[in-house]
Amino acid sequence: MHLRLTDEQRMVQKAIRKFVEKELMPLENEVLRNEREGKPGLSEEKLKELQLKAKEAGFWGINTPEEYGGANLGHVMQAIVTMEVSKTFVPFRFGGSADNILYYANEEQKKKYLLPTINGEKKSCFAITEPGAGSDTRNIKMAAVKDGSEWVLNGEKTFITGGNEADFVMVIAITDKERHQATNGREGVTCFIVDREMGWRSEPIHTMGPSTPASLIFENVRVPEENILGELHGGYKLGLEWIGYARWIVGARAVGAAERLLQMAIDYAKERVTFGKPIAERQAIQWMIADSAVEIEAAKWLVLNAAFTLDQGEDNRHLASMAKLFGANMGNRVVDRVMQIHGGMGYTKEMPIERWYRDARLWRIYDGTDEIQRMIIARNLLKGHVKLGQFL
Ligand SMILES: Cc1cc2nc3c(=O)[nH]c(=O)nc-3n(C[C@H](O)[C@H](O)[C@H](O)COP(=O)(O)OP(=O)(O)OC[C@H]3O[C@@H](n4cnc5c(N)ncnc54)[C@H](O)[C@@H]3O)c2cc1C
Repeated sequence: MHLRLTDEQRMVQKAIRKFVEKELMPLENEVLRNEREGKPGLSEEKLKELQLKAKEAGFWGINTPEEYGGANLGHVMQAIVTMEVSKTFVPFRFGGSADNILYYANEEQKKKYLLPTINGEKKSCFAITEPGAGSDTRNIKMAAVKDGSEWVLNGEKTFITGGNEADFVMVIAITDKERHQATNGREGVTCFIVDREMGWRSEPIHTMGPSTPASLIFENVRVPEENILGELHGGYKLGLEWIGYARWIVGARAVGAAERLLQMAIDYAKERVTFGKPIAERQAIQWMIADSAVEIEAAKWLVLNAAFTLDQGEDNRHLASMAKLFGANMGNRVVDRVMQIHGGMGYTKEMPIERWYRDARLWRIYDGTDEIQRMIIARNLLKGHVKLGQFL
């Protein structure tokens, strides 16, 4: 057992850290200013420019298979990269990647959707949530009815990340109502790739944080049969796979952000003098720093274990739920303490803490709420799907 990063992992971590410090962190004030004016933090052109810079430094398609031009570094590396890049709130993402389920595309679909997505020519989004079905995805109502060689989709999806900008959506709809009911939602749903030109429209949903997801409205949208992603009636599995991947990534994001925030609090506590002493000398402040450091470390191990388990080709869903639940809550506790340590300044828009505070709240909600993660973890243990101590 090796509880240290390999030389290669350290090298990548160091290089990403340098990129984040040199290229992204200097943009933070501009991002805050743009957002205050109601504009996107980073323009599309700036994002593309940064992605090209990252590409020149060798960071492109971190987890994309080599046959598609990616670096295929694996999930532990993905976790390390995500933790590093989450030390800034600049809304940057590396280029050269696509949603994990888009790799189920057939050859034609790969040419039309997967490759343009990897190359940054097309934008995708994934939609399962509906106004009446969030946690309970089995309760979706969107119907797809076969008409000749096409499927006709009707219904509404909501809270879809990237839905305002996407060129196409991977959307889950019921294709066999009886089978859907008989299998308690596990079968009888299908994932369709639907171009915006096929007729769906999006409406932005304004939130308390920087994310602006969308409602997607489908009214008699006709989708050719060849746009089924994966198997007919096999969409539930794809949905689980998409959500499952996102879970431990949320934990990784929380770790990166919390580390940066805690460093800000440590620096501030040493400088800020009250009653003749830096606040860093007060036990009340020290305990907040200590508790935060312990929790960040614990979350990091959970995230790395979830990623490592996936790299081994093993089922990591239990660990992914743990990494998400603990990571998201840790992130919320840390940002709250860091705001407290900064006093009034922490509450202002002069500093990024309040932005992180609003953003962090989402971590406990999307990709499965706290309650759903607890439900999964408890069910796995109570039903014996997972044994205590199974992984380490
Ligand atoms: C910014 C944002 C981005 C999102 N991006 C996407 C996306 O890209 N694609 C997509 O498909 N979806 C997306 N979602 C949807 C997200 O996954 C859902 O909001 C989430 O799963 C919760 O569903 P809900 O909002 O319907 O809450 P509900 O399911 O209605 O839950 C309400 C409350 O009840 C609790 N609850 C529900 N069931 C139980 C239970 N059995 N036991 C105990 N408590 C329970 C929940 O934990 C929650 O506290 C996004 C959401 C947001 C806010």
